[in-house]
Amino acid sequence: MQKSLTKAESAGFCFGVSRAVDMVNDLLAEGKKVCTLGPIIHNMEMVEELKKKGCRPVNSTDEPDEDEILVIRSHGVPKKVIDELEQKGMPYRDATCPFVKKIHRLVAQTDENDIMLIAGNRDHPEVQGIIGNCNCEYYTFNNEVELDEILPIILNKNNKQVKMVAQTTFDTKELKKSVKKIKKLCTNAKIFDTICNATSVRQSEADKIAAQSDFMVVIGDRHSSNTGKLFDICQKRCPDTVLIETAAELDLDQVRKAERIGVTAGASTPARIIKEVLDTMSEEIKSGETTTNVEESFEELLEESLKNLNTNERVMGTVISIAPNEVQVDVGRKQTGFIPADELSNDPTVKPEDVVKVGDQVELLIMKTNDQEGTIMLSKRRVDAQKGWEELQKKVDSQEILESKVTEAVKGGVIVIYNGVRVFIPASQATATRDEKLEDLVGQDVNFRLIEVSQRGRYKRAIGSIRSVLKEQRAAQREEFWKNCEIGKRYTGVVKSLTSYGAFVDLGGVFGMIHISELSWTHIKHPSEVVNVGDTVEVYVKDINEETKKISLGFKNAEDNPWEILKREYPEGTVVKAKIVGLTTFGAFANIIPGIDGLIHISQIANKRIEKPADVLSVGEEVDAKITAIDFDKKRVSLSMRALLPEDEQAPVKAAPVVEEAAEDAAEAAAEAAEEAVEAE
Ligand code: SF4
Repeated sequence: MQKSLTKAESAGFCFGVSRAVDMVNDLLAEGKKVCTLGPIIHNMEMVEELKKKGCRPVNSTDEPDEDEILVIRSHGVPKKVIDELEQKGMPYRDATCPFVKKIHRLVAQTDENDIMLIAGNRDHPEVQGIIGNCNCEYYTFNNEVELDEILPIILNKNNKQVKMVAQTTFDTKELKKSVKKIKKLCTNAKIFDTICNATSVRQSEADKIAAQSDFMVVIGDRHSSNTGKLFDICQKRCPDTVLIETAAELDLDQVRKAERIGVTAGASTPARIIKEVLDTMSEEIKSGETTTNVEESFEELLEESLKNLNTNERVMGTVISIAPNEVQVDVGRKQTGFIPADELSNDPTVKPEDVVKVGDQVELLIMKTNDQEGTIMLSKRRVDAQKGWEELQKKVDSQEILESKVTEAVKGGVIVIYNGVRVFIPASQATATRDEKLEDLVGQDVNFRLIEVSQRGRYKRAIGSIRSVLKEQRAAQREEFWKNCEIGKRYTGVVKSLTSYGAFVDLGGVFGMIHISELSWTHIKHPSEVVNVGDTVEVYVKDINEETKKISLGFKNAEDNPWEILKREYPEGTVVKAKIVGLTTFGAFANIIPGIDGLIHISQIANKRIEKPADVLSVGEEVDAKITAIDFDKKRVSLSMRALLPEDEQAPVKAAPVVEEAAEDAAEAAAEAAEEAVEAE
C-alpha cells in the first residue's frame, strides 16, 4: 500500500497570533511582570507554557498588580476596556491584530442611521470586541439560518443604511452565501469583507487537502474558533476528519489504516505541537510494514528545522506568496521564511504587492529564527536601509539635491524615505515659511539635501533639509525674474497674504502687490472680496521700483472696465433699465451697469413739477431712462426719464439745468449721499 502524508503550508501561528505571543515573550525577556486579558491565544498548552515563564491570564482590568503590564490579546476588546485602562492609568500593551483593529474602525464609524450585521459567533471574544466598538444597532449571525431570522427585522427599518462586517475567521463560503442573500434584499447594503487573508488561505488549503485525503487531522484547541471552522470545512470533504489538541489524542489505528493523510492546524496552534503530531504519525508510518512512500519525510523535516540560520546574516530568498500582512519567502530551508509587512519597506503607506512580486529574488536580513515554530523572520527594509546608509554618507559630503516622497508627519517634522532610509526633516527645515502645515507635505515628492548623517553605536540618524533647497531655488528664480522683468509682462502668481490695502502675490521667488483699487472696477471694502490666500491669479507688472525692488501689479482687465463697456454698448440716446440707488433733493442716482451710476436730475424725473425726487421714486425701484449725456473725462452720466414721457402742457415744468451743471452740483453731495456713487478711476 502506498501512503502519503500532506501537511498544509499554512498550518500554525498566523501573523496576529505570532505578534501577540512575541509581544508577551519580549516583555518577559525584558524582565517585566506580564498578565493577559484572557488567555493570550486559544491554546491551553501555550498558555501553561507562558504561565511558567511568569505571564498569567486575568479576567478583568481590576486584577493586575500595580507592577504588572496588561497585554490585550489579538482578538481585541470593546472600547470601554481601553477607556477603563486609560482612566485608571494602567500600563498596558495592545496586541489586537491590525486586521481586527480595522473592523473596530469600520464599526466605530457608524451612527443611529445605520444597522450593522456582524457575521460571526456572538460569544467569541473577537465578536464581543467588535460589538463593543459599534456605534449603532447591530445583529450577529453565524449561518444562513440565523441570517434568515434577522433579515425580516431589518427590512422593516427601510430608512436605515445596512452595513456588514465579518469575524476575521468566518467561513469564506458561508460568508459568500450570506452576502448574496443580503445584497438581494438590501440592495444598498455596504458589505465589508473583513475575513483575514491568512484565514481564507488556511481554509482553502485545508479544503483542498481534505478533498484528497481519506484521513484528515486538524490540530488546535477546541475553544479556537478558526480551528473549529477548519474542522467543519475538512469534515465536509473528508468524513474521517478528527480534531486533536495534542499528539496524545491521535488514534494510531486510524493513522495505520489510512492511505492519504492530510494535516492542518489552527492559527493559534504552536509549531511544536504540530511537529509532535507529525513526528508521532511519521513514527507510526515508518513502523508499518506496508509503508513505501511518504510524501514528506518528517524526520528530515525535523532535522532541517534544527539547522539554524544565524540572525543578522543576509540571505537571498524567492518570494512565494504575498498576503496583506506578510510575504512568504523560500530561503532554501525547510523552515518557512516570512517578511512581516512592516519589515518590507520603511514607507508605511506602501502595500506588500507594491514592493515585491511572486518570483522576485530579494536580499534579506535574518531577524529571528524560531526552531520551535519552524519559522524564520526576515527583513527587507533593513537590508535596503543598510545599503542606502552607505550611499547616504556619500551624499552628505557632496550636498547633492535628492528627490523622494514625504511619507509621514511626525512630532517635530516629517519623514522622507530615501533608498530605504528614514530621513528626518525637522519642521524648521521642512517648508519655506513657518506658517505652512507639515501634514500638507505628506504624499508630496520633495527635493531635499542631507545636512547630517551620523552613527553612534547602533543608533543611526539622517537629517535633511527641504528649506535649504527651496531657498536656493527661490534665489535662482529671483535672479531669473529680475533679468526678464519688464512693465506690462504678464505672470501667473499665488496670493500669499492680504492686507486692508492690497494682496501680495508670489510670482516665483519674488513678491508683488496688487493695490485694492487694482483688484476690481467697482468699489470694494477689502481685497478678500475678490481674492483669497492660495488663489492662483493672472497679473501684469504695472510698475517696478528697481531700488526698493517693489513691484506693483495690475489685475483688472481693460475690457472689463465699465466705462469701456458703456462706450461700446451704451452710447448717448440709449434707453436703459436703471435701478435707483440713491435720492437727493436735486435728483436720483440710478445704476446703469455694475460700476456706473447716472444722475436723473429732478427736472428729468417727470413731465410735471415735483417737490422732491422721493415723492416719485424710491431706492431699489427699476426705471426706464434715456442716457442724455456722458462725460468720459469726469466720469459722469446724465439720465432722463422725462425724455421718454409726453410733455404735459397743463403743467409746464421748470427748464432742466444743463447736464454739466447739474452733475457738478450733484457730485459732491452724491459722494456723501450714496456710497455706490460714480466712481472715478
Ligand atoms: S487570523 Fe488573521 S485576523 Fe486573526 S489574528 Fe490571525 S492574522 Fe489576525
